[in-house]
Amino acid sequence: MLDFVLNLLFPVTCIVCHAPVRERRWGGACPECWASLLALEPPFCPKCGEPAPAIEGLCGFCRRGEHNFDFARSALLFTQTLRDIIHHLKYADRVSLATQLGDILSECRRREPFTGNLVIPVPLHRSRQRQRGFNQAELIAARLGLPMATRLLRRKKDTPSQTGLTRNERKRNLAGAFEVRGRVSGTIMVVDDVYTTGSTLNEIARTLKCAGADRVEVLTVARVPSYRAAETASAAVARTQ
Ligand SMILES: [Zn+2]
Ligand SMILES: [Zn+2]
Repeated sequence: MLDFVLNLLFPVTCIVCHAPVRERRWGGACPECWASLLALEPPFCPKCGEPAPAIEGLCGFCRRGEHNFDFARSALLFTQTLRDIIHHLKYADRVSLATQLGDILSECRRREPFTGNLVIPVPLHRSRQRQRGFNQAELIAARLGLPMATRLLRRKKDTPSQTGLTRNERKRNLAGAFEVRGRVSGTIMVVDDVYTTGSTLNEIARTLKCAGADRVEVLTVARVPSYRAAETASAAVARTQ
């Protein structure tokens, strides 16, 4: 009934396909668009979740020991529809989208062998957080219903654009970008909306381990397969890392 009245007064149309959205619990995208999202299913690297490694077992990144984190999974592939949803969450203040995204994340966490008992959402730089008014990673991570630390990790450097940078340039750009206030221990689960090249998450994992973490796990809603990361890095995601 409340939905009915609200829909008369403030009709909601899907931010992706513009169909009317009758139930507010969908948070601004229609049920069909939510249902069209693609789950990231095996085969993927057993350690870092990289989609479809070319050979059996660990992917190239893991075999070369390029990740500082110990385990990573993403719930969905980064499709155009998901890009639109995340974009609206970040830039159009459609914070209600975070509920559904958080539930998708939570399902992935329960399905996969995560052991972390403290959640740290990837922090935004102070100025960016002030400008946006919220941290989307924090809104999404809140749905996990686990203990969450939002002040333990700080983003010292504003690294606005990673666009067009090579892996090594990204690494240099991010060096010293984060700082842990105090000491940490045990297993930490780092949460973000999109895993693009993994550079940011890698630098965070390095920082957390220097501060005493034994194990760092990464959980994201979306994953850009590495063969697509370069092209996607030039799209909207990269601006917001
Ligand atoms: Zn739709
Ligand atoms: Zn891997």
